[in-house]
Amino acid sequence: MELFRKRGYQVVDFDSEADVYCINTCTVTHVADKKSRQAARRGKRRNPDAIVVVTGCYSQVAPEKVSAIRGVDVVVGTQGRADIVDLVELAMTKRAELPLVAVGDIMSQTEFEEVPISCPTKRIRGFVKVQEGCDEFCAYCRVPFARGPSRSRNPEHILEEVKRLADSGIREIVLTGIHVGAYGRDLERANDQATSGLPWLLEKIHGIPTIGRIRLSSIEPVDIDESLIEKVQGLPKVARHFHIPLQSGDDEVLKRMGRRYQTRDYLRIVERIRDMIPDVAVTTDIMVGFPGETEENFRKSYEFARSLKFSRMHVFKFSGRPGTRAFNMKNQVDSKTRHFRSEKMMQLAQDLESEFSRSLVGKDEEVLVEEYKSRRKLVAGIGSRYTRIEMPGGEDLLGTLVPVRVVGTLGAVVIAERLLPHEEGFKLHGEK
Ligand code: SF4
Repeated sequence: MELFRKRGYQVVDFDSEADVYCINTCTVTHVADKKSRQAARRGKRRNPDAIVVVTGCYSQVAPEKVSAIRGVDVVVGTQGRADIVDLVELAMTKRAELPLVAVGDIMSQTEFEEVPISCPTKRIRGFVKVQEGCDEFCAYCRVPFARGPSRSRNPEHILEEVKRLADSGIREIVLTGIHVGAYGRDLERANDQATSGLPWLLEKIHGIPTIGRIRLSSIEPVDIDESLIEKVQGLPKVARHFHIPLQSGDDEVLKRMGRRYQTRDYLRIVERIRDMIPDVAVTTDIMVGFPGETEENFRKSYEFARSLKFSRMHVFKFSGRPGTRAFNMKNQVDSKTRHFRSEKMMQLAQDLESEFSRSLVGKDEEVLVEEYKSRRKLVAGIGSRYTRIEMPGGEDLLGTLVPVRVVGTLGAVVIAERLLPHEEGFKLHGEK
């Protein structure tokens, strides 16, 4: 959007009539592929003269399928996105043969492609990408084929972007990437620097005075070590929240998935985090119906998740993706069973989420206010521990970080009262 705006375009809603429709695709499941195809067709239906450009992961892994969709004019993958406006304008001249396909070999990329953000559309939370790609090749996952090898963004560019966003009023920065925990490894190899990993980056960002809160998006269990936990513990502006993908709570399934840990390793990490950071929120991703997952495997996975008391679980049904090892594995689980297991796991997720919210009653939190409900004179936002928090308050609180005390819950929603920072007992981060 920013690249287009800089060239004088106005960004409008996808459902409006426009001159250019840009679809950023996903390919994580076959449903994502289907939605991407539908969106591409929808653009051309709205305005048959428009240029339709399709970019992102689906374009990267299946450029021939994307370019064959009727009405698609430009296909860009997950690299070379900085050229997107030039390609659209070339397509507009009708001088080139359409569709223009600009999808290169992603597996040979070694550099992080800079597409900096300077003017966020929502002025409260900013997503800053620090890393791209993944070297793990889990058996079910198409992401390494769509995003290429792991590569870290230059720390100076990250810090510049964070400062810019903070100066523009952004209060929370979310550090994102495909394999965020791998941040810095390639830089260390290339520059022989031992000071460029994630804990180092967190500390640097934390030092920017205008930043209110920093959140790590997702960290693989194999990337969590003592230095990272200590760093989070010692930096009060880092959210008290770890999102650690589990995928399965059964060791046989984890092994077949090609995940490089067992349940005991995962448990050890979570226990260590909880020892060092009391009341921390641990959220996860969990998959059901991986090929060969028996009733017993599923039961173990369910019980493991229950015992870990995740405060939120994103539940996924296995979706076979062409090109991955799991696609051709024997003993695929039928869709009815996958559906049943997913429903059961989602019910557990809901119960655990409410349980976690209840556990916060009487405790102190800090909410980033994002919504004002004028009729009920309430404000709502997300707490440091990634729960939704509501409390009495006015529009003036929008975009601010407010210290609160939790007084109750409504399902998984946390109800709080505003605390003044000088009030005795405010101890979100362990200090008075
Ligand atoms: Fe996919 Fe994540 Fe595994 Fe990488 S670590 S292959 S992105 S599931």
